[in-house]
Parts: sequence; structure tokens; C-alpha cells
Amino acid sequence: MKTPAWLSASVAILVVIGGCGYSPTAKAPVATYDILILNGTIVDGTGAPAYAGDIAIVGDRIAKIGDLDGASAARVIDASGKVVSPGFVDLHNHADRNIIANPGVENYLHQGVTTILAGNCGNSPVHFDEYFQSIENTGIALNLGLLIGHNAVRADVMGNDNRAPSVSEQAQMDALVRAAMGAGAFGMSTGLIYLPGTYSETAEVVSLARVVSQEGGIYASHIRSEFDRIEEAIEEAITVGREAGLPVHISHFKVADNSMWGKSTITLGWVESARSEGLDVTIDQYPYTAGSTGLVNVLPAWARAGSKGDFQARLDDPATRARIKADTIDKLNGARAAGDLSRITVASFPNHPEYAGKTMAEVTVMNGREPTIENGAEVAMEILYDGGGSAIYHMMVEEDVRRIMQAPYTIIASDGSAVTYEKNVPHLRNYGTFPRVLARYVRDEGVLSLEEAVHKMSGMPASRINLSTRGTLAEGTVADVVIFDPDTVMDNDNWAAPHQYATGFSFVIINGVPVIDAGERTSDFPGRVLKRGM
Ligand SMILES: [Zn+2]
Repeated sequence: MKTPAWLSASVAILVVIGGCGYSPTAKAPVATYDILILNGTIVDGTGAPAYAGDIAIVGDRIAKIGDLDGASAARVIDASGKVVSPGFVDLHNHADRNIIANPGVENYLHQGVTTILAGNCGNSPVHFDEYFQSIENTGIALNLGLLIGHNAVRADVMGNDNRAPSVSEQAQMDALVRAAMGAGAFGMSTGLIYLPGTYSETAEVVSLARVVSQEGGIYASHIRSEFDRIEEAIEEAITVGREAGLPVHISHFKVADNSMWGKSTITLGWVESARSEGLDVTIDQYPYTAGSTGLVNVLPAWARAGSKGDFQARLDDPATRARIKADTIDKLNGARAAGDLSRITVASFPNHPEYAGKTMAEVTVMNGREPTIENGAEVAMEILYDGGGSAIYHMMVEEDVRRIMQAPYTIIASDGSAVTYEKNVPHLRNYGTFPRVLARYVRDEGVLSLEEAVHKMSGMPASRINLSTRGTLAEGTVADVVIFDPDTVMDNDNWAAPHQYATGFSFVIINGVPVIDAGERTSDFPGRVLKRGM
């Protein structure tokens, strides 16, 4: 095998250093690098204190870190006054849905994200080899790894049925998960509020998780309830980890039920007691008090079982419709809107694009009714009858967001996707997650130190999926590097104007290639498909 370019450059540097000590007149070979980043403040992603230093890149690797004054390179970047850190690793992403159509994923590049783990919340491709091939044919700007999604697997084998699998169906699902793990999945995700995953019982998930465990993956869960049944939902996730013997990661951890606002000490305590039992449990969080999911989630899950026709038949039956309405009113009075329709904003609604950006209170008025909860339930049933869309739910409080962020086992992640610029009304996390933490929670509020924040965005998520060559800055690691100004880095999006790129990231380098250069997107697509164990 050929010696990698970065290794020979390191050897050359050792010669230079040796030469300085013992024979000052000898002509030592001068190391030349592809990229030199000089005079930066290095925050290396491990959580260790920042330090001043230079970084040299050769090919796709970090060849040298130290005082590189006098070295030469094809490209020299002056990082004076800037932070140099590992590229951010977004452990909770949904871009598998749309990255082939939007391989630039520019909303993430401007945030300093260099690697995403997609396939979360139970939703993923099922056949990984084909999927990876199409990604490689297209080319992508950043690195992508995948989880295998339970909902996708279940839908493939059992459709949208509301029942337990037969023995042979369970075996088919186990086999699909095994095949995905063999193709490089980092683990399995569940989305136990979504169809059809919500129709599963714990035993089904444990069976699949055992397969994942045998292959060395993790279990990431959008748990069965983030509202009134959150305690048993967290317990279920932990049970899967205990019974299947694998690491558990709880997705977008939040306190969303208005009756629980301010009580994140309690919900974090449930995680901590599992950890003190010796179980390997972590969580992720997006730094906002609003969530985003399908508008259809204002209706009860039982009403949505089976096909679209089944759903419509239930709404057409007056008695069943009355039950659906009663449950919807409960959800709107409780966790979904805390009794206020203006807490829900329609993000996209293909059948009625005029609803995008409007609150459910406004949509109710547009449908000729007073914006009461009862009328909101009626309008939701009407507009969801033959189509759906996504919504933003303002359902958390800042105190809980801060406390969850500070937990040492919390990873920052976006729960976003590859957004098409100026299309629909996406959740702000798609454009702002990582800079928002650096701007608001590090610089303005001091909730985290800079080193802690970078660790939660790089070294911690990378180590969670055993990406040993990424997520930290060290000699020999892959050159996924970002340079940002800690004084000006900023998320610029807001609910009235969500399509705003973050600013403050002057360079984003992926596999040794700049994709953001002096703040501008280059034309390169150096991203790779990442597979477990590679
Ligand atoms: Zn989710």
C-alpha cells in the first residue's frame, strides 16, 4: 500500500525539527502542506482548554498541529482572532429524505457542519447499498452516515397495520436490520409516535435492537411520548438498552407538556438514574423552545391507522369523528398547544400553500371560524382529511432548554434536513442550531463554555458512533475543520424570515477541501458516505 501523503509530510517535519537541534547548517527538506491555518485559537473538540496554534493539512488529513511559523503551503489561511475547531457532527438529522435532490445542503455548511447522521426518528431508506450508491453517484457536500429506521423497516414488511408482527414478519424485520447494519448503519432509530412504529410493542423493538447490538450499533429513539407519558417512554428506551445490551440515545430531549414545564430536573433524573445503574445513555437537543413535526399529530394516532381511505372513513363516520374531535381537543388543550392555537404554526401544506407561515388560530379564521380550541380541532380534521403538512409547535420553556443543554451527557444536534432555500417555512434549527449555541448560549448567556459547546457538537457526537478519526483536531485525524469568529458567529434566521444562512464561519473544510472559503460556498462536493467500522 502506498504511504498516505499526510504521513510522509509528518515524517518530513520530524526531520526539520531534528535538523534544527543538531546540524543547523544541513539543508533539511522543507515541509510543504496543502493548507496551513495560522494563528488560530484551537478548540480541539475533546473539551480541553483552547490554545494558540497552527494546523497543517495534507490531502484529507491533519498532518501537524503546533507552531508552524515558517512552513509553507499551497494555501495559507490567517485565523488570527478566530477559533479553529473540528467540523460539527450532527447526530440527529433527516437529510436522507432529500439530500439526493439537494446535495449541497448549504443550510448546514454555513453552520460549520461537516458530518450528519441521518435516518433518525424511525425514518430511513431500507436498502442501504442502493441508497449509498445513489449518493455516491450524485456526490454530496458533507459526510453522511445512516441509522436504519424501525418505521421504514416495519412499513416494508407490515405496511401500516396496527398489530404485532407474526413470527415470520419479525424475522423479516430482523433480517432487514441485519442487512442495513452489514451495509454500514451506525445503529437503529425508532419513532414511536409515528406510524407505523407507534403500533409496535417493546418486545418487537428489543428483538431488532438485539440485532443492532450484535453488530455494535446504537439505539436512538424518538420515544413513545414526549408529553403525558414521558416517564414510561424514557423507561421503555432504557429497557430496550438493558435487554438488548446496547447504548441508548434519546432524541431531541425536551419538556414539552405544559404541566411539566420547568421540571427538567425530574426528566433528566430519570436518565441519570439509568446512567448510575451503569447503562450507557445519552440524549440530544436542539436549542429552541419550539418543535416541529407533522400537523397530523394534533389528531390521535388511532385515527390514522391503516390507509388514507381508512382515515377518511373514520372522519366520515359521525360517531367516530366525534371521538377524534374530542381527542384532538384534548391534545390542543394539553401538550400540543397548551390551549392556544397561536402556539402552532403551519410550516408547509402542499394542498393549501396559503396556510404556510400562518398559525392555527389564523388558519381557523381563514376557514370562517372563531379561533377557539373546539373550532381549531374542527378545522384541523377538515384540512387534514385529504392531505397534510408540517407544523411548528411552540411548546417548551427556556429554563428547561438551558438545563438540558448543560447536562454532561447532552449532545447538540439539529433534527433538521436539507432545506431548499426559500421554500416553505422550516424550523429555525435547519439554519441555526450550531451558531445559535455559540452565539446565544456561549457568548451571550454563558450557559456553556466555548470548549464544552464545541465538544457537544463534535467530539462527543463522533465518539457516540465510534467515528474515531473525526470530531477532534489531532495529528492524523481527518481534516474536517471549521474556522469561526467567536465574537460575531450568529444564527440569522427568525420565524418571520427563516431562510437565512448563519454567518461567522469563514472556512469550512471537509476531507481537506474547503466548501466554505472566506464565507462563500465553493463548488466542491467532497463529502463521503460514512459506514460503521470504516
Ligand atoms: Zn423525532
